[in-house]
Amino acid sequence: MPDFVQIDCGPMQPRGLRIHAGTFVTLFRRDQGWVMIDSGYGVTDVRNPSLITRIFCAFVRTPLKEENCAIQQMPRFSINPKYVNDIILTHLHLDHAGGISDFPWARVHVLRKELQAARSHRGRQGIGYLSRHWKHGPDWKLYDHIDSDWFGFPAMRVADMQPEVYLIPTPGHTRGHAMIAFQVSKGWVLQTGSAGYPSYGHDEDQARAPGWFKHWLMGDYTARLQTLWQEHRDEITFLSSHEFRNSR
Ligand SMILES: [Zn+2]
Repeated sequence: MPDFVQIDCGPMQPRGLRIHAGTFVTLFRRDQGWVMIDSGYGVTDVRNPSLITRIFCAFVRTPLKEENCAIQQMPRFSINPKYVNDIILTHLHLDHAGGISDFPWARVHVLRKELQAARSHRGRQGIGYLSRHWKHGPDWKLYDHIDSDWFGFPAMRVADMQPEVYLIPTPGHTRGHAMIAFQVSKGWVLQTGSAGYPSYGHDEDQARAPGWFKHWLMGDYTARLQTLWQEHRDEITFLSSHEFRNSR
């Protein structure tokens, strides 16, 4: 069994960009069961997509298929969805939070600021939230305070999880966006969510989007993450929620 599993819940080819990316869910094991980072699109999104979901998926050219949902793909990786007890969300946009209703028993960890932003629904980032995704009343675990340091990044330790996992607040893409870091047998995995440009170390990919666009879309973390990658790439595996499909 590998240290972590990446499941693509929504292949995408955004219009106007020559990239093939995905909408990834990351799964790894802790002492208390499987932990899932982000949740992609849920079964309800596929069976009964909202107008905004349809518009967004048409723009990024993501086919909404039930077989792509995380809960449907897990058996292929020998993961029983019943043992997914915790979901940690980088943020609550519709392509990250849609699947949480497929796991109503799971605790859902997220920054309190992000839930507040999603509920208030304001600004350009507010367009990407769908309150139907948390209508079932998840068992929220909300985070307010920095209590740790992760490679120089102020971090919040995820409650009741061994070995430790951290939320790293990185506002920009949304007000309460967080990267997620977890330990594996050899070093760390950093899921940068939508704050990190996919494919660190692939210079040809870095050149594909102009700097102002990346800053507008992801917040101001590209340079810091690039430095972290250069200094610690032998001990940190970098992931992105929208990893390029041809980059690994
Ligand atoms: Zn987003």
